[in-house]
Amino acid sequence: MFAGPDPDEYSKCVHCGFCLEVCPTYQQLSDENHSPRGRVFLIKQVAEGTLPLEAAVDPVFTCLDCRACETVCPSGVPVGHLIEMSRGQIHAARTQAQKQSRRERWMLRGLFSHPKRLRLAGNILRFYQVSGLRQLARSVGALKLLPSHLQEIEAGLPTVPLKPKERSLPLPVPHPASSSGRQPVRAALLTGCVMDVLFADVNDATARVIARNHMTVVVPEGQVCCGALHVHAGDREEAQALARRNIDAFLGAGSDFVVTNSAGCGAAMKEYGDLLRDDPAYREKAKTFSAMVRDISELLIEQGFDPPTGSLDQQVTYHDACHLCHAQGIREQPRQLIGAIAGVELVEMPDSDRCCGSAGVYNLTHPDMARQLLERKITDIPAEAEAVVMGNPGCMIQIRAGLAARERSTPVWHTVQLLDMAYQAEDQSSKR
Ligand code: SF4
Ligand code: SF4
Repeated sequence: MFAGPDPDEYSKCVHCGFCLEVCPTYQQLSDENHSPRGRVFLIKQVAEGTLPLEAAVDPVFTCLDCRACETVCPSGVPVGHLIEMSRGQIHAARTQAQKQSRRERWMLRGLFSHPKRLRLAGNILRFYQVSGLRQLARSVGALKLLPSHLQEIEAGLPTVPLKPKERSLPLPVPHPASSSGRQPVRAALLTGCVMDVLFADVNDATARVIARNHMTVVVPEGQVCCGALHVHAGDREEAQALARRNIDAFLGAGSDFVVTNSAGCGAAMKEYGDLLRDDPAYREKAKTFSAMVRDISELLIEQGFDPPTGSLDQQVTYHDACHLCHAQGIREQPRQLIGAIAGVELVEMPDSDRCCGSAGVYNLTHPDMARQLLERKITDIPAEAEAVVMGNPGCMIQIRAGLAARERSTPVWHTVQLLDMAYQAEDQSSKR
């Protein structure tokens, strides 16, 4: 029997309304039911039996789970956790919402949970992108047969790197000789589900940057999707199964840290302790695992990094991914890394921590809201920015799609890619 939201969590809300003005869905809809305060109240009413579960379905699933409300809440209401538990409750109760999300459930259980199927899908996508099929589809207008939000997402997808399977990272990536005298650190890299297929180049850059900073990179065999998308969709059972597999894979790898370059994965893995709190066999291991998780920017600042001497000479702006800034409190570390690169000037964008509308698979399940938020995000990108930098793959796809829709060619980089470029520039200048 699924326990549902915790009364101790929703009872913390004092209805002050400080959260309203930062909630993207409330900003767009001006409807109390689509505000953090309203959602918490609906969840409370359902739990107390004064409202049927179905009445909460739309507000709970229209939430982005962006956690901007948690950043400003003076009472410490864990709105994101309440939303996720409420979704789990809805999922377990087999309501209409579950019937409406069959496609989403197929993607989550049938695709993201299976690395081999994802690679196959990636290879098919790559064939489409590089064989001329994409160009043909565009020139004859075939893409117009797709719903408009899928057309936009298609435009935001990066070209799948060549044969992801064969490009897998060397095991382990040794750290170069260090003159610092620091103890060698072993960092186990989560290659991720989407990252491993669409952004294998970001994984490669991550491994190079870690190694460049005198740590050894290991890529544990047997690792799988982190389960973040499943938690967001309310499928906690599948998320727990994936978490157990990752815990076994990573704790068996004998590393000091579990490192990720995906904000959503990092936030989810830091909460494995909560996800598996009712599992006596994994409860303690999950806590140990969660304590080892670091975002790549967090790891580099915590362990110390060598400021690159290579110069990049460009103005960039930075988008705060919700699950980095709101869920993990990581705001300064990426800015410190960017600020350490010679020639790079950071031009802040307004409301850099407002959700871009990606939010896992939200841009597939709620395309209209996702598009409205993307429009606002793209408008906020300063005209002088020569690149947009961020730390989450979903945001990278979403913002690329938004830029493409406005025919802007501004590149989108992961923070670690920018740092890697600066290290490569340093290598090139030393060869001259
Ligand atoms: S800021 Fe926190 S306490 Fe205030 S209404 Fe929002 S959730 Fe409730
Ligand atoms: S998580 Fe985001 S969308 Fe959901 S209630 Fe909080 S601020 Fe609003």
